[in-house]
Amino acid sequence: MQSSRTLSRRKFVVSASLAWAGACLAPGAAIAADLGDGLVQLSRKGAAAAKIVVRTVRGNLSVLEGSGGNIAVLHGPAGKLLVDAGMSKANVLAALDGIGPGPLRYVVNTHWHYDHTDGNAWMHEAGATIVAHESTRRRMSTATRVEAWNFTFPPSPGGALPEIVFRGVTALHFNDTAVALEPYAPAHTDTDIRVVFTDLDVVHLGDTWWNGHYPFIDYSTGGSINGMIRAAEENVVAVTDKTIIIPGHGPVGGRKQLTEFRDLLRSARDAVADLKKQGRSADEVVAAKPTAKYDATWGTFFVGPDAFTRLVYAGV
Ligand SMILES: [Zn+2]
Repeated sequence: MQSSRTLSRRKFVVSASLAWAGACLAPGAAIAADLGDGLVQLSRKGAAAAKIVVRTVRGNLSVLEGSGGNIAVLHGPAGKLLVDAGMSKANVLAALDGIGPGPLRYVVNTHWHYDHTDGNAWMHEAGATIVAHESTRRRMSTATRVEAWNFTFPPSPGGALPEIVFRGVTALHFNDTAVALEPYAPAHTDTDIRVVFTDLDVVHLGDTWWNGHYPFIDYSTGGSINGMIRAAEENVVAVTDKTIIIPGHGPVGGRKQLTEFRDLLRSARDAVADLKKQGRSADEVVAAKPTAKYDATWGTFFVGPDAFTRLVYAGV
């Protein structure tokens, strides 16, 4: 019993590592040679070498793609406010400078994960105030293990920790733009928030939405498939057809793609739950390919079909 559970976990870690390696490393980089460093270190290397793509979202709001999770940038006379900090410095700094002048004033973290908070330390040093849910600070303050990544994150250095923390819905105003910070019940982790740029009708959903990709779900820090579904349902209700929606990973999209994601999660949950109720083991459910009709489109990024099935199985 014990050994089969250990084996399942190892299979999950390996399949996730390979997909993430492929997604993060520059083309032509030697994946096999680097795998010994593990998923987390590998993706950090990939982010440092990544080309950052800058897109204008709406008005004075842009998004930076390529250094871990998507980074939203609100810029104006008062400087810059960022949603999430990415993982690397040089390429992100160059992209920020390219958007326009003005100091880095605020960084809001959507949750505690390293691919959204590694940049906190250098951004704080550059003058930014870090803002996040109090649980993000709590998770970053102590050694935190993520079983599925086979990695224990040490406590973050003091400068990387959020200085302004909140528990309930919070608002700030920057560059004449209202920014609402809205916590979720545990979903992808137990630290998730969405950030709503009310006047612009743009929202950053953090990792409660992966546009076009199976999501990672961090059971080690409070995430679950049912929490993800609840957050997706709330997100669909909170937006309109005109809202521009920034996912944690994947391209900027809208309500149509967000609704497809919610439906995918529900469908996978129901299919896997049916098989588990019949008494099938995780390996047997993976072998039955319950997400087959989605795999070619959704299963080619960080979380492949088998890993996603195991993440769902763990929560039903
Ligand atoms: Zn995450």
